[in-house]
Amino acid sequence: MSYVEGWIFHEDGFFRGGISFSNEKIIEIFKSKPGKFARPKSIKKNEKPLAKGIIIPTFVNSHTHSADRALRAHVASYTGTLKQLVAPPLGIKHRYLANASKDELISSIQTSISEMLNSGTYTFLDFREGGLEGLEIFKNAIEKYFEKNDTKKSNIVQFKINAYPLSRPIENKYKKEELDLLLEHSIGLGLSSFVDWNEDEIRKVASHVKQKGKVLGIHASERIRENIDKILDLSPTFLVHMLEATDDDLEKVAEFNIPIVICPRANAFFGKIPNVPLMLKKGILLSLGTDNSMLSKPDMFREIEFTFRICRIHHFSKNAKMDVKPMDILKMAVQNPRIAFMNMKKGLHEEDTPDFIILRTDSIINKGEDCAGALMHASKDDIILAVNRSCDRAYRTHTNRNRRLGIFQKSSSRRLGNR
Ligand SMILES: [Zn+2]
Repeated sequence: MSYVEGWIFHEDGFFRGGISFSNEKIIEIFKSKPGKFARPKSIKKNEKPLAKGIIIPTFVNSHTHSADRALRAHVASYTGTLKQLVAPPLGIKHRYLANASKDELISSIQTSISEMLNSGTYTFLDFREGGLEGLEIFKNAIEKYFEKNDTKKSNIVQFKINAYPLSRPIENKYKKEELDLLLEHSIGLGLSSFVDWNEDEIRKVASHVKQKGKVLGIHASERIRENIDKILDLSPTFLVHMLEATDDDLEKVAEFNIPIVICPRANAFFGKIPNVPLMLKKGILLSLGTDNSMLSKPDMFREIEFTFRICRIHHFSKNAKMDVKPMDILKMAVQNPRIAFMNMKKGLHEEDTPDFIILRTDSIINKGEDCAGALMHASKDDIILAVNRSCDRAYRTHTNRNRRLGIFQKSSSRRLGNR
């Protein structure tokens, strides 16, 4: 058994205490009394904590397109429209995906995974293009990644990631056999914008997904405002973006209790920012995603900081609807996606599988609220220890600026919630 101590994430705010855990589960979460720190009862007197710092659940990246990573340098100077870059089937990205070799795509996906694992993300939802073949490439990329990084063969840290692919048909058309196969091999569908589809076709697709009890994610009102009534009629599990949504559109999304995934850095690439204060004011459950790997490194620390700064912009603008707190933003990366997609409880709990990271902070932390504030400025260099799922042994081969980075791992079989 091991333990860590410091400030522990909780839905109502951070508290001071410690966590003792085995490879299988969290044994005890201990709350210190004000003014004095006491260790968990389950820990022997002379045992030292593995790490001290701010303890949060690992990040969930709620929206990625991991396969277009190779285009990152190329599109950095791109000045065309969003449609010309990403709309299927003729956008630059789709032409690239259609012509890239399988190995190149595998390499792109693997680099994206590496970037996530190195920055505290152990779960991601990927919109995988290319139909069944695209899914096969995704599966291959993940399997080969962990073969390549097998500690038995090399000295590299081995760790797993919970990869949840959302697939899509090759063409924006309803084909029953293709859909059956896609849904069998993925958690559901991740569709491009509603306006890219013929309405009858997308309706048939959506009712098929619903009938199979799978997840349906759709990009909505990203480049133009789309008809929210028609989109909600499809019973989506979640929407991505909603940049061009009106107050009424967001009201309806809130009424139907549909979560939204926002990707502020990708939006800013095209000169837009999501109205986070308004979305929160409506009571919408928001999660953060990094979107296309070619537009943003899938590093949740960067997405958190950027979201924090656009909320500051909203705060100083005349249209600010509410003040967004650092804790609201942190929840979008660690708690809200677990509620929206994984049917999980809020925060860290005894008996849960260990799944958290511990971050160093040099700031003055006087109260729990300050921890979320510290996280707005944190980066992957602040990770002292990552405890991810259960494992047979701890790996300590990786040093990070002379600080210890231990990884406990085992892949998870936790299911996403279907609806
Ligand atoms: Zn996207």
